Amino acid sequence: MADDGQEYEVAVVGGGPGGLTAALYTTRLGHDTVVVNRGGGRAAMMAETHNVIGVTEDVSGMEFLQTAREQVKNYGADYVRGYIETAERRDDGRFHLHGGDNDFVAEKVVLATGFTDVQPDPPLPPTGRGLHYCVHCDAYMFVDESVYVMGVGEAAAQVAMILLNFTDDVDLLTRGEEPRWSDETNRQLRAHPVDVVHEEVVGIEKDDDGWLSGIEFEDGRFREYRGGFPMYGSDYNAELVEQLGCERNDDGTVVVDDAFETTVDGVYAVGDLTPGHKQIPVAMGEGANAGIDIHYDLRTFPKSLDEIEAEGDVASDEIPGIADEVREAAREFRATGDD
Ligand SMILES: Cc1cc2nc3c(=O)[nH]c(=O)nc-3n(C[C@H](O)[C@H](O)[C@H](O)COP(=O)(O)OP(=O)(O)OC[C@H]3O[C@@H](n4cnc5c(N)ncnc54)[C@H](O)[C@@H]3O)c2cc1C
Repeated sequence: MADDGQEYEVAVVGGGPGGLTAALYTTRLGHDTVVVNRGGGRAAMMAETHNVIGVTEDVSGMEFLQTAREQVKNYGADYVRGYIETAERRDDGRFHLHGGDNDFVAEKVVLATGFTDVQPDPPLPPTGRGLHYCVHCDAYMFVDESVYVMGVGEAAAQVAMILLNFTDDVDLLTRGEEPRWSDETNRQLRAHPVDVVHEEVVGIEKDDDGWLSGIEFEDGRFREYRGGFPMYGSDYNAELVEQLGCERNDDGTVVVDDAFETTVDGVYAVGDLTPGHKQIPVAMGEGANAGIDIHYDLRTFPKSLDEIEAEGDVASDEIPGIADEVREAAREFRATGDD
């Protein structure tokens, strides 16, 4: 350990599907990697896992992440439970990360900190049992069911109309707030059979199995619903993005290239932090791309002709190019057959 922190080739901040996949690739490709994760996050909120081929619905987000963490640790990565508060590139060209009692120094950083869904005010149905944050994951559950969308922005109006692809019973709940969608969207909305309900929600009713059965409104009316989607926006966990000077898009996402490197050399962003669909397979694909790109930059061999001219031929004591910690873990992994 250096004076200013534990040294790694790669530091991944955020241990959701995006960060853990990036770490899986950098580790299995031979680079000494640490994942620092506060815990929680969007994947941890999943009552069931949908849209992930090979993973069945009965697997919760917590179980999915637990398996992923074990895989990454078994390949030789370090996993640290903690919150990174500050990140900066110092004169040594490396990234220095700090949070609580933890200090890390790394050549490459992967930011996989995701975002937090803006929550509506209570009363609310239980998450995953009538309150859902992912239309592409959960609309399938509501085919021919009665559903609601909460919100007053463009996204709420659009999602209400999109849900008509799945069911003919969709209400849009503004909860006493003035709608902010455009006049054009309003005309579009009025041409679709979506009922806009303006009264505030005062009560929630559930089935014996804990699922939402209906919502009570302040005018005394009760409407039956199986579930729905609050649409109040996303708070990006972008403090480190800002500290490192990475550019962001107008919607709060981080600007990345095809390899998921940000506008700052050596800093990558993957998962919900980046533009595009907010889905586990997408986050995992981004993590894989970033991990492989990092390997291309960090791997020792083949040496270029310039390097050979400056340093001479590759000596036998220079090989293999793999980090010692990962080499040891790989031997142990092979010996135990543990995965
Ligand atoms: C209720 C719900 C259900 C969903 N269901 C599905 C589904 O069935 N199928 C599907 O494909 N998608 C689903 N999604 C979407 C999916 O969860 C996300 O797209 C995915 O989790 C994004 O992965 P990520 O790694 O970018 O972020 P996250 O999973 O949000 O992980 C980010 C991690 O970073 C940590 N972190 C943040 N800041 C710091 C910091 N400074 N230091 C250390 N750690 C930090 C957080 O604590 C968190 O652990 C669902 C989302 C929600 C909210």
